[in-house]
Amino acid sequence: MKFTNEINRRRTFAIISHPDAGKTTLTEKLLLFGGAIQVAGAVKSNKIKKHATSDFMEIERQRGISVATSVMTFEYNGTLINLLDTPGHKDFAEDTYRTLTAVDSVILVIDSVNGVEDQTRRLMEVCRMRDTPVIVFINKMDRDGKNRFDLLEEVEKELSLHLHPMTWPINSGKDFKGVYDLDKKSLVLFTANTKASDEDVVEIKDLSNNILDEKVGEADANTLRDDVELVDGVYGDLDVEQYLKGKIAPVFFGSAVNNFGVKEMLDTFIRIAPLPQSRETSIRHLDVQEDKFSGFVFKIHANLDPKHRDRIAFLRVCSGRFERNKYYHHVRLDKDVRFSNPYSFMARQKDVIEEAFPGDVVGLFDTGNFKIGDTITEGEDFYFTGIPSFSPELFKEVVNKDPMKTKQLEKGLLQLTDEGVAQLFTQFGGNKKIIGCVGELQFEVIQYRLLQEYGASAEFRSMPYYKACWITSEDQKKLDEFTRFKTNNIAADKDGHLVYLAQSEWFLNTERQNNPDIEFHFTSEIH
Ligand code: GDP
Repeated sequence: MKFTNEINRRRTFAIISHPDAGKTTLTEKLLLFGGAIQVAGAVKSNKIKKHATSDFMEIERQRGISVATSVMTFEYNGTLINLLDTPGHKDFAEDTYRTLTAVDSVILVIDSVNGVEDQTRRLMEVCRMRDTPVIVFINKMDRDGKNRFDLLEEVEKELSLHLHPMTWPINSGKDFKGVYDLDKKSLVLFTANTKASDEDVVEIKDLSNNILDEKVGEADANTLRDDVELVDGVYGDLDVEQYLKGKIAPVFFGSAVNNFGVKEMLDTFIRIAPLPQSRETSIRHLDVQEDKFSGFVFKIHANLDPKHRDRIAFLRVCSGRFERNKYYHHVRLDKDVRFSNPYSFMARQKDVIEEAFPGDVVGLFDTGNFKIGDTITEGEDFYFTGIPSFSPELFKEVVNKDPMKTKQLEKGLLQLTDEGVAQLFTQFGGNKKIIGCVGELQFEVIQYRLLQEYGASAEFRSMPYYKACWITSEDQKKLDEFTRFKTNNIAADKDGHLVYLAQSEWFLNTERQNNPDIEFHFTSEIH
């Protein structure tokens, strides 16, 4: 238990949202609170505005220079906060899903005008798979949003999440007057573009006090009294245990762009958000308090500058102390590795660090030794489990346009898929190489990078598949039989696991019905 103090002061989380809900804006406000940046506008959105490869490339090139945007570390009231960035574009959702395996909790931003949107749903599904604790921030209260009760009901229903309001809004849009902090029993009055100060907070222990009428007017005061009575009656005090189990999500109302409601959320976050958690491995439960170092790679960032072809592997520390220049065990390669320039991302700058602790993310220079899911230890052989691959939904056959560059193409495909850009399958009948992605944009990126970085020229030919499912069975004979009959629909993923490629939902359902001994999985754990 050597590192208890270091562990206890860390919180590692991600902000998730549908694009445009306000993730970048909220990130920036949090960094301002943490003193990590001084001015608004310093955080660049990682959003792809046009559906264009060039746009993506531009963003990636900038990020290559300042990889710091992938992890932001800042301190607030003695707590060391690691905020992991997630890609904004849905075509890169897999990257986000994997980042979620490296955090201990999330903040979900919802636009009060649009309510629950597509990406919100998908991201929450992933959080639910891991019972990740969630805090909800309902943003843009300065706009005419949905009725507050309807909104909460929509979120609860659509995301199958039990909510627990921590603050309660007084109106919305141009009549937005602020929020009532249900926990601290104080009124926080809205002023646009507020600084991080407590000036506009009025303590009102008893809502029947006339001061409330003075501050917000009689009509709104009465509405608030009724609302609070109702809300208090339904919800009571927050059950922090239930939050930590991912069963109940505290909710805050605010306006990120006006820096309103953010501080209330951040204060609660550092009070209740989970410490770096213990994890499961392929052989045993790993306690976060163990003395020996371990960690895993959840993201690989390629530098797209052709002059600097290095990559940075992002490693989440899971136990012990990571030290610069010390030899560690790379489990998959069964090899000793050491890192002379590990990076941390304090104050948005890359700094070489000497040590890191559970909850921290370290950036490691990589010349091709890492792939997603790799585990580094002090000698023990195990893998962290629960790092998922999701079934892709778009499939294209790789067509080599330059037979002289076959080797380069193969190398490029292997490395890019190691980075987790896409998944690579080899079809049984015919040995075709198939790339599976979640978004069209990924194919363009792969094609561009194959050419730029490997000098290989490839085209993609669409394949009529709708989903890839990993198949397993207790009965090896049944599995063999199935793969023999369905050769054209069977492929192996990069690790040799069997995959069934379904042409349509109907085919998939039919096969599932006809083959009750075979299990069809929509996610595969890398280990
Ligand atoms: P992201 O795509 O989730 O990162 O969203 P951004 O943070 O880039 O915000 C999208 C747009 O919403 C930007 O134009 C922001 O200025 C705006 N925005 C963010 N927060 C608020 C808010 O509280 N009120 C209003 N009216 N606009 C906001």
